[in-house]
Amino acid sequence: MRNSDDYDYQYKIVIIGDSGVGKTNIMTQFTRGEFSEETKTTVGVEFANKQLVIDDKIIKAQLWDTAGQERYRAIISSYYKGASGALIVFDITKQSTFDNVDRWMKEIQESTSNDISIILVGNKSDLRHLRQISSDVSSSYASKHKIAFLETSAKDGSNVHQAFNQLINEIHSKNK
Ligand code: GDP
Repeated sequence: MRNSDDYDYQYKIVIIGDSGVGKTNIMTQFTRGEFSEETKTTVGVEFANKQLVIDDKIIKAQLWDTAGQERYRAIISSYYKGASGALIVFDITKQSTFDNVDRWMKEIQESTSNDISIILVGNKSDLRHLRQISSDVSSSYASKHKIAFLETSAKDGSNVHQAFNQLINEIHSKNK
């Protein structure tokens, strides 16, 4: 018998992007199936774990969610340390959050030395009537940078599991 804390592989995944794009809710939707309408400011870093099974192996994904990155510059290097994957999240209804994706890409490149897997996530797909960034634009950005891309809704849950599964499978294929 294996106990619930047993795992074969553990991967650290950081969730980054401008504040208000839905990082915390993407994480709680994936790990607990929960969504909250309220904006709750993340203080420092929050963690959540989720186990998955890939090819009969137990994978433990350790998710790191942070907020107010500017205020927490001092912890940036520890935030990225040992990360195998990153979700860069923007809000499809807010142009500035997509414009800042470049800055997040740069921060990852400057803060990690290893070959980190990245997925670009356009969140709030349930608000498609308020869309400011077309999926064509984001998907060409992603192909240009050779990273994956998906649109999600932390509210109705669409594509949230797919985004993490895609990222974790990519990470695992490099490590197994
Ligand atoms: P964070 O600052 O990036 O962690 O963003 P939060 O997870 O705190 O979300 C910010 C706000 O956006 C909250 O009011 C959430 O309820 C809302 N929100 C997050 N994801 C979605 C989504 O997919 N659809 C909609 N309609 N609202 C969302």
